[in-house]
Amino acid sequence: MKVCVYCASSSNIDAQYFEATTKLAKALVKANIEVVYGGGAKGLMGKLADTIIEEGGSIKGIMPKFMNEVEWAHKKVAEFEFTETMHERKAKFLEGVDGVIALPGGTGTLEELLEAVTLKRLGLIDLPILILNTNGFYQDLQALMDRIVKEGFMEDKHHRMWTFTQEPEEIIGQLKSYQTWGEGSIKLSDKG
Ligand code: AMP
Repeated sequence: MKVCVYCASSSNIDAQYFEATTKLAKALVKANIEVVYGGGAKGLMGKLADTIIEEGGSIKGIMPKFMNEVEWAHKKVAEFEFTETMHERKAKFLEGVDGVIALPGGTGTLEELLEAVTLKRLGLIDLPILILNTNGFYQDLQALMDRIVKEGFMEDKHHRMWTFTQEPEEIIGQLKSYQTWGEGSIKLSDKG
């Protein structure tokens, strides 16, 4: 199994976010799940990669060339893919993975997460989207999603496209027990 993890590049955040990232990384390695991520060395991205490497797991960074040129790439990550653009990078994150996981983060993480949700709604991907709600970080996003549905911008069933989780270890079971979304999606073969 392989997953894509979206997470913060910032290091100026509370210790509990690093602890949750460490727990998730350990659980992924224990479950033999490979990881692709943004390739960064700092923040939760750095913690994720450091822990996976320490635990003997597999991690690959996908990063636009300009970020590598300013030396943002994690030096200890052996496998890297460099893209021309941010768009290309986001598309590559989703190639050949069995799920996406979002940890707390800034606009980069949010953008990546919401693109995955949008692609799933359109039937372009059919993957579990698992959101780690450490410290209630995503509660306002959850409330916004409720409002989006309540006011008719999306349908009730769209709530089921993603799952909010409190405990990092629970994510493994959610990945493994994923049931195809299918619902309301357009056949993959019909879309470009
Ligand atoms: P954010 O959640 O805003 O911290 O964004 C995480 C995303 O920001 C990553 O996927 C990258 O697109 C980008 N990013 C921002 N700063 C860095 C950095 N120092 N190293 C690597 N990626 C970064």
